[in-house]
Amino acid sequence: MLHIGCHLSASKGYSHMAKEALGMGADTFQFFTRNPRGGKAKDIDEGDIASFLKIAQEENLHRILAHAPYTLNPCSSDERVKEFAHMVMEDDLMRMEYTPGNYYNFHPGSHVGQGVEKGIELTSSLLNKVLKTDQTTVVLLETMSGKGSEIGKTFQELRQIIDCTKLDDKLGICLDTCHIYDAGYDIVNDLDGVLAEFDRIIGLDRLYAVHINDSKNPISSHKDRHEKIGQGSLGLETFFKVINHPLLHKLPFFLETPNDNEGYAEEIRILKEAYEY
Ligand code: FE
Ligand code: FE
Ligand code: ZN
Repeated sequence: MLHIGCHLSASKGYSHMAKEALGMGADTFQFFTRNPRGGKAKDIDEGDIASFLKIAQEENLHRILAHAPYTLNPCSSDERVKEFAHMVMEDDLMRMEYTPGNYYNFHPGSHVGQGVEKGIELTSSLLNKVLKTDQTTVVLLETMSGKGSEIGKTFQELRQIIDCTKLDDKLGICLDTCHIYDAGYDIVNDLDGVLAEFDRIIGLDRLYAVHINDSKNPISSHKDRHEKIGQGSLGLETFFKVINHPLLHKLPFFLETPNDNEGYAEEIRILKEAYEY
């Protein structure tokens, strides 16, 4: 069975998202832990959490994926921005334990001119502050397109962040198909080669989730503009290869395409139909 979901609005709570996902033919979903531009998270609603956990068990939901706000930048040169990143990630990870055993994805950050090495050092330094031995959440570094001064645009940079993090058993990777293509990894013509490189540098055992997005731009464009499945430079065939790849087919896939829920439901239907397992 294909594990698939899409990005949903968290405004009505966990149990609402679970029902929405199920109604769309999905068995998981992604959501922002708070306003994508940052700000305060909603108070934990124990009743909502309890009914979510019940639905998740009854309906056999796959692990869900919480996404940190975009404004979270652990490798800023601005102390307040770094402190905000610390506060948000610490708070998010504490809240994640109400729904144990799920995934928390974040963008490793932008070094804003300080250099890649400094960026890597600052991001792992945040991880060394917030990761706890007893947490059940796996924190995922997202593969980035290399827009601006983003770090995490190569497998080597992600590897270095993992290497500099003490509790690295709490760390994994979320591979974004639009981002790696924009970063220069040719998953259209050489998916096998890209996965072999991922395995050699990071290890495929670190790969926990896939963001499945088409791209508005050509390879190596470093733009990060998502397109609907099959309407961009990756094309439907690439996505069919990705979801059916023997090294990927058991992973959960999350759509972050420019869609409303109806459009997402249609993409979920197309991908489920093309799934060969
Ligand atoms: Fe992301
Ligand atoms: Fe993404
Ligand atoms: Zn993106």
